[in-house]
Amino acid sequence: MCPGLAPIVWHDTYNQTVLENYYANHKITVGLTVFAVGRYLEYYLDSFLISADKFFMVGQRVIIYVLVDNYTNMQLLPRGRFRTFKVFRIKREKRWQDISMMRMKTIGEHITHHIQYEVDFLFCMDVDQIFRNNYGLETLGDSVAQLHAHWYQSRPLHFPYERRELSKAYIPVGEGDFYYHAAVFGGTPLQVLNIVQECSKGIMDDKKNDIEAVWHDESHLNKYFFLHKPTKLLSPEYCWDFSLRSQDITKVKLSWNWKNYKLLRVTD
Ligand code: UDP
Ligand code: MN
Repeated sequence: MCPGLAPIVWHDTYNQTVLENYYANHKITVGLTVFAVGRYLEYYLDSFLISADKFFMVGQRVIIYVLVDNYTNMQLLPRGRFRTFKVFRIKREKRWQDISMMRMKTIGEHITHHIQYEVDFLFCMDVDQIFRNNYGLETLGDSVAQLHAHWYQSRPLHFPYERRELSKAYIPVGEGDFYYHAAVFGGTPLQVLNIVQECSKGIMDDKKNDIEAVWHDESHLNKYFFLHKPTKLLSPEYCWDFSLRSQDITKVKLSWNWKNYKLLRVTD
């Protein structure tokens, strides 16, 4: 349990059979949003989707919302039963920071217009990741946050929260429980709607005040979870960076893909 009394899900701290039996009688649909804009589409999207098909919520109904700026580079991928892709075209922001931050606004619009009527739970993830093992029912909750692999052993004093008071993402030194990774968050659609709307309000206010939070949307997400504690936390096994070593990690469910910002973050 963490200070906010929300459970932290580690591998094997849950009973898979009990969960599966429960959800066999309570049919649910789980949504997942993923953005692939510019070069991120050709480099990351296929491995994300192929691995999701294999490991994300196996046996459940799943809808993956894929948001791209260009359909022409998209492959037709095979997928399992009860699994749907819905592909949407979005406008491409010029700066990579805005591509990342504006996801909050776009997710909000899609939840409002259709996602809230289509799924019971929703995850929002970065595309530069690969599923490695079953990522299942144990991760579902009202409001789900991901412990950042690089910071889960650090003290709050050192967390890279936004420290300038002018920003809406500001968190005072010494406060806060965890540093969350914006590459994964989720919850019920209405909770996620609240999360993304608050974050995009903070982002837009910061733009008006000519300030940009140090870690962009992630800073605002951390501020949101600072003010509204998540009800479930995922251990770093649910978003692991294989360049790190730790004996805490027994089974990696999702891992960071390789990064090459110079090649992939085109700003034209
Ligand atoms: N993204 C994208 N194209 C870009 C930059 C970002 O599609 O040019 C999307 C993509 O889903 C990516 C996410 O925004 O995973 C966050 O950006 P990134 O993964 O580069 O941030 P980091 O994980 O390095 O903080
Ligand atoms: Mn990423």
